[in-house]
Amino acid sequence: MNIPLIDPFARAISYLRVSVTDRCDFRCVYCMSENMTFLPKKELLTLEELDRLCSAFVRLGVKKLRITGGEPLVRRDIMTFFNAMGRHLESGALHELTITTNGSQLEKYAADLYAAGVRRVNISLDTLDEDKFAQITRWGRLPQVLRGIDAAQAAGLRVKINTVALQGFNEDELFTLTDWCASRDMDITFIEVMPMGDLGNEDRLGQFWSLKDLRARLAGRSALTDLPDNSGGPARYVRVDETGQKIGFITPLSHNFCESCNRVRITCTGEIYTCLGQEGHSDLRAPLRASESDQELETAIRAAIARKPKGHDFDYSRQQVDGQVSRHMSHTGG
Ligand code: SAM
Ligand code: SF4
Repeated sequence: MNIPLIDPFARAISYLRVSVTDRCDFRCVYCMSENMTFLPKKELLTLEELDRLCSAFVRLGVKKLRITGGEPLVRRDIMTFFNAMGRHLESGALHELTITTNGSQLEKYAADLYAAGVRRVNISLDTLDEDKFAQITRWGRLPQVLRGIDAAQAAGLRVKINTVALQGFNEDELFTLTDWCASRDMDITFIEVMPMGDLGNEDRLGQFWSLKDLRARLAGRSALTDLPDNSGGPARYVRVDETGQKIGFITPLSHNFCESCNRVRITCTGEIYTCLGQEGHSDLRAPLRASESDQELETAIRAAIARKPKGHDFDYSRQQVDGQVSRHMSHTGG
């Protein structure tokens, strides 16, 4: 019998985020250095291995699967994987298949994603200014992403915009961004910048813009109503009374969200991280490759869940970056 995955703090694991590649066609300053060294391809899980792994989690009770990266849509033949996951949606075992993307490839893939069963996508966008977009993503170009957003909506995908709140960078675009999203019937979620990776010269405390301040600025303009729904993750939502728009806040640093955490992450090399803010992880690639049967894999998954920590240690409150973890977000997946 498939006993569901319950961690030592009685949290049921129903949400899996999987990074399918560490590569990306952008080099966002808070995420990657300009000269990234990527992993040799043989280190990455193959598409077949990703299928086995995700299918094992679905068997063990995962209901929501988010594909991320790196940029998931730059992985070769990635649609084969999405199409294969569609069978779990059809059987009813999986409730949602979704993706976080920078949008650069959506013009090409939006319709295919919809056909595979994807209904909602998160698209990352920090600014609507072309020059600033090129500055923050280094290699990205805004018009391409805007065409991707158009394509996603035309294909019938519900779009949520993810915006990293960056002090001195997009503070002045708070209303421009939220109004633009409202005008296109898109929700928006702001993310506090997290201390990920060793990016050398980035001044993290300088970049940090507290969402408490961001929210207060929004509330100064429009009435906001707290929404009770949360997906077990670090996001909290409000409704803008005037427009009905939903605005989210992901505040891993100033708000503790760990009690209700229902998720685990898999890196593109098959390591499972049961907490985004802790280094603790275990390898699922070896058990995956050791045998064609999934028994060893399932044992390793259960052992990892049994070690899921109670919470993370990120803390900016003492004006130094405590709890910093050394891996890049593009490795673990955002
Ligand atoms: N490439 C895709 C994208 O950008 O949407 C998916 C992967 S990316 C790592 C996932 C999310 O993580 C993006 O919304 C990105 O803005 C966010 N992110 C990356 N580095 C971050 C950091 N240091 N702090 C907060 N969010 C970060
Ligand atoms: Fe690439 Fe996404 Fe990281 Fe930007 S945030 S460099 S788009 S993986």
